[in-house]
Formats: sequence, C-alpha cells, structure tokens
Amino acid sequence: MKVPFLDLKTQYKTIREEINPAIQDVLDSCSFVLGKAVSNFEAAFAKEINVKYCLGVSSGTDGNHTALWALGVGPGDEVIIPANTFIATAWGATLCGAKPVFVDCHPESYNIDPAKVEAAITPKTKAIVAVHLYGQPADIDPLKEIAARHNIWLVEDCAQAHFAEYKGARVGGFGKAASFSFYPGKNLGAYGEAGAVVTNDDELAVKIKMIRDHGAIQKYNHEAYGHNYRMEGIQGAVLGVKLKYLNRWNDARRNAAAKYKALLADVNGVILPKEMDYAKHVYHLFVVQLSDTMQRDALATYLNENEIATGLHYPIPLHLQPCFNHLGYKKGDFPSAEKLANCGLSLPIYPELSDRQIEFVCGKIKEFINKH
Ligand SMILES: *Cc1c(COP(=O)(O)O)cnc(C)c1O
Repeated sequence: MKVPFLDLKTQYKTIREEINPAIQDVLDSCSFVLGKAVSNFEAAFAKEINVKYCLGVSSGTDGNHTALWALGVGPGDEVIIPANTFIATAWGATLCGAKPVFVDCHPESYNIDPAKVEAAITPKTKAIVAVHLYGQPADIDPLKEIAARHNIWLVEDCAQAHFAEYKGARVGGFGKAASFSFYPGKNLGAYGEAGAVVTNDDELAVKIKMIRDHGAIQKYNHEAYGHNYRMEGIQGAVLGVKLKYLNRWNDARRNAAAKYKALLADVNGVILPKEMDYAKHVYHLFVVQLSDTMQRDALATYLNENEIATGLHYPIPLHLQPCFNHLGYKKGDFPSAEKLANCGLSLPIYPELSDRQIEFVCGKIKEFINKH
C-alpha cells in the first residue's frame, strides 16, 4: 500500500466542482491581484479567527515580515523566536534588519518554553514570536504576561495552526498581530503562494495594508516604505471555497492522530506527540520521536522501502543553520530543540488519510521496532 506524505490531488477531486467556477470567476473578472475574491476571503477568515482585520498577503514568509515591519521592528532590535521552527519565522526578523534571538522549546509541547524566554530578553528586545508548531498552540498566557511586563510585542506565527485553539479560542488574536501561511500543504492551503496578517489594532491594520501595497493607501501616493506583498485573486477564490471545509478537515486530522496514538500507544521507543491541556491541536504534522538519530533514520528508511513517505521537521534547528553562524550559537545550546531535530520523524497526516493506511503505517513501525 502506498502512503504519500500528503495527498492534494484527492482533496482537489472532492471540491473541484466548487473550485473551478470560483477560479473561472476570477478569470472572467480579470481581478488577478487583490479584488473581490480576496476581500471576501479576508472578511470570512477574520470572522472565523475572531479578529477585526485580516489582510491577505503573498506568503506566510511575507506575512511574518509584514507583521514585524508594521510594528516598527528594525536594525538594532532583537526578536525572540523558538530555535525549532521553519526558517521563515526567522526571516520575519532578519528582513526587518533585526537580530533573531533563539529560545529552546518545551520538551513535551515542542513549542517555545515560556520559562526560558525571560533570560533571552535584553533592552533591545522588541517582540516575541510564538509559533504554534505542528498545529499545537504555544502556551500563550505566560508569554503574554512576559511580553506585557517587558513592554514588548507578542506576535503569533500561525502558519501551521489554522483554527487550532488555546483555552477554547482560535489562535491569531492573542498578540498584537499574527501571520498565517496558505502554502498548498498547510491545513488551509491555496493553489499557489499566499498568506495573511491579522490584527485587532486599527492603526496597525492600516500600516499592514500600506506595506503590502508599496506604502500607499491611495495609488501612487507613497506615505511610507513598503513592498509588493499582495495576495492574488485566484488564491483568494480558492481559499474562500476551502475555508468552509477547514473544520471538517481538521477533525479528520485529529481522528487520524487519535488512531495513530491508539495503535502506537504501547510501542517501546516511540514517543508520541502530546496534546497539552490548554490546546486543541490541529495536527498539521504528526511528529514522533525515536531514541536516537540512527534509530530514526533506520525507521525512515524502513518505512520508505515500504512505500510510506516520511518527513523531518526540521533536521537542523535554526541556531545551527549556516546562515546564522555569525550569531555564535553552538551545539548543545538548546537540548530540547536539538533532540527533536535529531530524533523526530514526521508520519503522513492529512484529512484524506484512511484508517487502512494508518493501520499499515503502524504495522510497519511495529515490525521495525520488533526487529531492532
Ligand atoms: C510554512 C511556514 C511559514 C512560511 O509560509 P510560506 O507561505 O511558505 O512563506 C512560516 N512559518 C512557519 C512556522 C511555517 O510552517
């Protein structure tokens, strides 16, 4: 049985009767950049997330940049981010000319450890970026408290956590601003590059709107520096259709995760992801940990030989990336993030993944563990 890591084709087939005419509408109207399809999606998404403003942008990376840029983060500033995240979280700070300051993750939630944040704060710190990694919300309350006490911004990177909940509320409205990615493989994915920045702040929303469109509200009147970070019309149309299914798809991911957990519960040497008490996890990724790198790599090879695709998220933590050599971090600085990089293995998870496929994957994992 083939188990791909992701199956976008099967999902497209289930919604093509709605998607195709929505794209056709954009073609007919020739509203290729922003336009009605985008503004309709922005309004619908803001409502779902329970925030005042949603501004569509060209990617999650551009969203990370825009959020910090709009907050005035710049050269000489520092931004606290988790050591274990996708590189794009760090680009938000570096593109503003600021310095990323890394913090280790909590060993069970895999999200930034609030207990370790305080030590990383300096007079130059402007913001903490909380990433809701793998689809599980970060522990927001202590982060909020620290940010308030030091008078710095809390910003969320929600790229992997559309509709994930912290203490019953969806992520995206906990900080001053939040960014989302709609990269095709995300829980809510466009058919190309797309992202969004959301906020409850009137002034900030105006700044975000200006930055994404050349620093202008009125065409050709450039009040501030900006960029071209606009969302495309076709992406807005696709997202507008797919948004209606997100709850259902997240539920399917949660069911898949529950099935994995039940089948792997008593397998020695496989640490399962933990849903924290405060969290409703949306399982963008299902990452298990093996006892060491050799075991992890051997299991990945064994699964791949059996036509089961796996992933690594992420094999090199940010503080050990060559592009950040100049920051002076070294191996051993962030043990939990490094353990996750060395021993973590992502199993296939997506709404269309069948019970039979999950049973097959778990059967092969058990086979492997029994042999080793
Ligand atoms: C995917 C992702 C991004 C970047 O989003 P793009 O739309 O691919 O630019 C940022 N942060 C995290 C945590 C991500 O997973």
